[in-house]
Amino acid sequence: LRMVSARPIEGEPVSDEELRPETLDGFIGQPRLKAQLGLFLEAAKKRDVAPDHILLAGPPGLGKTTLAMIVAHELEVPIRVTSGPAVQHAGDLASILSSLEAGEVLFIDEIHRLPRAAEELLYIAMEDFRVDVMVGKGPGASSIPLTLPRFTVIGATTREGMLPSPLRARFGFTAHLDFYPEEELEKLVERSAKVLGIVLQDDAAHQLALRSRGTPRIANRLLRRVRDWAIVHDLPQVGPDDVKQALALYQIDSEGLDRLDLAVLKAIVNSFDGGPVGLNNLAAMVGEEAETVETVCEPYLVREGFLVRTPKGRVATTKAWEHLGRKPPEDVMK
Ligand code: ADP
Repeated sequence: LRMVSARPIEGEPVSDEELRPETLDGFIGQPRLKAQLGLFLEAAKKRDVAPDHILLAGPPGLGKTTLAMIVAHELEVPIRVTSGPAVQHAGDLASILSSLEAGEVLFIDEIHRLPRAAEELLYIAMEDFRVDVMVGKGPGASSIPLTLPRFTVIGATTREGMLPSPLRARFGFTAHLDFYPEEELEKLVERSAKVLGIVLQDDAAHQLALRSRGTPRIANRLLRRVRDWAIVHDLPQVGPDDVKQALALYQIDSEGLDRLDLAVLKAIVNSFDGGPVGLNNLAAMVGEEAETVETVCEPYLVREGFLVRTPKGRVATTKAWEHLGRKPPEDVMK
């Protein structure tokens, strides 16, 4: 199974760490979420208890992992990191849970992919702070109930709808991360440029923000590509035209659509006459997993008005036809 990612460019090592803000203050944008989370954490600190469990939902690359790290940092507690696909058996999760220290944060990325049995074990642990640990194998195996110290689970998911409701109900705080507006991405690019030691001229950050698909991870990736450009061309400063040229090389278009976004739109428009087309057909057409198309491409395409989800399937809008340089049919959706 492949992990869903928002990477527009193949072969890039995962290097999100160096650009991760450590404090809530350093986290850019999402003002309401920051205010809510800040209050929530401060109350827990004042009461001197581990806060309620936290669920972070939203498309990849919007800052879920970063927020989890920030929560641990603000609470001054250690954080343990795992993911739904990494937990293959309930026993894997039981052993993580039974080794947690009081107050520790357990971050579970892609929590909707936990195996069923692990999910059940998790919600008992979250609610009652206990876990049954299996000892021995085969007919001689027995289970020992273990009381756990209070800890905080932070779950991240790109598909909140796939979480069973008993699990969802155990989170006391749920945050939905949304794509970032241009101004916020611009700030993020400026901050990252400082960290990476790049000098951006006026409007260069704006040009980068426009092409970042509303996504911080993509903004940071594109900024690194622009840095490569500046290094190779010996530029002491980066101007807006450098950004445009560097990113044109990577086929990032002016609407920020990447290769997969464009493949999806082209498939609907060129092969299915604008739709409606079902998710599985569409995914097969572009050679991707349905989950990737659904969680990585579609939320952005829908938000930007390129695509509409209808009960009969996905439909391309006028904007999509025009973006591909095609004349939309008369009865097409706006
Ligand atoms: P997710 O877990 O949602 O896929 P990450 O937390 O890994 O996303 O974020 C991807 C990258 O974007 C990281 O380098 C992170 O530092 C950066 N990033 C995300 N959101 C923000 C933000 N609000 N402010 C600053 N940097 C951010």
